[in-house]
Amino acid sequence: MRMVFIGPPGAGKGTQAALLIQRYGLVHLSTGDMLRAARDAQTEIGKLADRYMSAGQLVPDDIILAIVKERLAAADCRTGYLLDGFPRTLAQAEALDRMLAETGEPLDVVLELRVPDEELFRRLSGRGRSDDKPEVIRQRLVAYRQQTEPLLDYYQQRRLLKTIDGMGTVEEIFQRIQQVVDSLGDRAGRHRK
Ligand code: AMP
Repeated sequence: MRMVFIGPPGAGKGTQAALLIQRYGLVHLSTGDMLRAARDAQTEIGKLADRYMSAGQLVPDDIILAIVKERLAAADCRTGYLLDGFPRTLAQAEALDRMLAETGEPLDVVLELRVPDEELFRRLSGRGRSDDKPEVIRQRLVAYRQQTEPLLDYYQQRRLLKTIDGMGTVEEIFQRIQQVVDSLGDRAGRHRK
């Protein structure tokens, strides 16, 4: 199965992604994790990306697309993956569609994890990551609303979007996700490992 996971910072995507990949045998592709690894390794891309990340802004599309394209071409992605934190802009979504059209492997589902703003702030403030300072959190939420939320319409129009209530315990939320994924049609079922 090929899935995209969309949700604002603090929605709990990381936690649910870990459960999802285990349950469905998917490779976890988090662009945030890839960028943090590049930053920690002090590569040129990592240093460049850090300037945007520490300000709560999105890293430019061309950098992200180069990273994702290379990663998606790897053999372990053939059996299915969960894209977490990508795409985040319409340009990224369109570029992903073009990449997947080339290989004839379209997405099976786009999961949106929905959580109210007050709860996002509460969760992010307790997390302690370097980009979880209040002003950076605010900027990351602005980036989500302005640049990522338009993707919901994009995937709704393509009949791929499934919205999941992200309030509740980790187990409750994962139950909801499983229900959605398990109820996908035969098309997704054929890809299921
Ligand atoms: P995340 O771990 O997904 O919250 O990502 C952390 C930070 O990495 C974001 O605030 C962005 O600065 C950057 N980032 C991650 N994924 C993307 C993406 N697809 N496009 C642009 N920037 C990204």
